[in-house]
Amino acid sequence: MTAFLHQRFGELHDTLPHLRLGTGPTPLRPLPELAVGRASLWLSDDGEFGDGGWGGNKVRKLEWLLPDALRRGRRTILTVGGLGTNWGLATALYAGEHGLRTALALVDQPVDDHVRTQLARLERSGATLHFTHTKARTIAAVPYLLAKHASGGKPPYLLPAGGSSTVGVLGYVEAALELADQVAAGVVPEPTHIVTAIGSGGTAAGLLLGLELAGLSTRVVGVVVNDQLRLDARTLLRSARRTEALLRRRGARLPELTLSADRLILVEDQLGPGYGHPTPQGERAGALAAEAGLHLEPVYTAKAMAATLALDADGAFGDGVVVFLNTNGPR
Ligand SMILES: *Cc1c(COP(=O)(O)O)cnc(C)c1O
Repeated sequence: MTAFLHQRFGELHDTLPHLRLGTGPTPLRPLPELAVGRASLWLSDDGEFGDGGWGGNKVRKLEWLLPDALRRGRRTILTVGGLGTNWGLATALYAGEHGLRTALALVDQPVDDHVRTQLARLERSGATLHFTHTKARTIAAVPYLLAKHASGGKPPYLLPAGGSSTVGVLGYVEAALELADQVAAGVVPEPTHIVTAIGSGGTAAGLLLGLELAGLSTRVVGVVVNDQLRLDARTLLRSARRTEALLRRRGARLPELTLSADRLILVEDQLGPGYGHPTPQGERAGALAAEAGLHLEPVYTAKAMAATLALDADGAFGDGVVVFLNTNGPR
């Protein structure tokens, strides 16, 4: 299947190559079991997205990042994450399938069973792991890691946490176009809101740009779960605009756009003590979701669901159509 971005905005196969890693469209279903207010709640399950042993939102970013790395003749991806990084794991698995090695610099995060399971998966993934512990030590180690993982006369393809580079953001531009197609096909009414956790911001930034391009009026509710990165509205909008500029530079024929913060609702009261620290609200939301057959994890999606339920209970969504984006994808 051709990417919607290619179909809609020009012949971009050479300048913006896309590698299909999942089977779209992402399944959408109503989630009436969880509604606590007047909104009708839907689930867009990107946990189902990805065919390579791990699903979730990182796979959509890799659909654009891996071919960009290959196009540049890179042989290794160097990136960073917490000890339980879904991003690092997805990268190791999918990059490995396409002949790229992965090196990860791992920063400490609270270790619980969830993180221990992830770390065991990372150790089996074939990635080279560097335990750099803190953000400062990771930044300091970058020159060494770039030299160490150079191959074929080229440096590794360096990616920020969460894969939220200008290219990675394209994953959720594409997802928004896919959602618009589902709306047009009558699978779901036009959503008033789409809720996502914000860890590194690429998912939310991609949605901001993609929804604008798709002509949907859906607002993005971003639930901030990370206090290690700057994730305010300005930063997210700047990231969306950088990806818009990238699309234009690479030859996409885009309409005039007015990206604005009006489309974004940032929720900052679900973080709790910090990134990776579970919260009672998150645990409660996770338990309710589990009863409805939806498995959430404590770092991102349980906090996003806690925000969704609290906003719905407060009437913040009115009688709107709210899509909860499940970004987590264990196999
Ligand atoms: C990385 C991640 C997120 C956050 O996405 P960003 O694009 O980094 O903001 C949300 N949920 C899960 C399960 C993730 O692994």
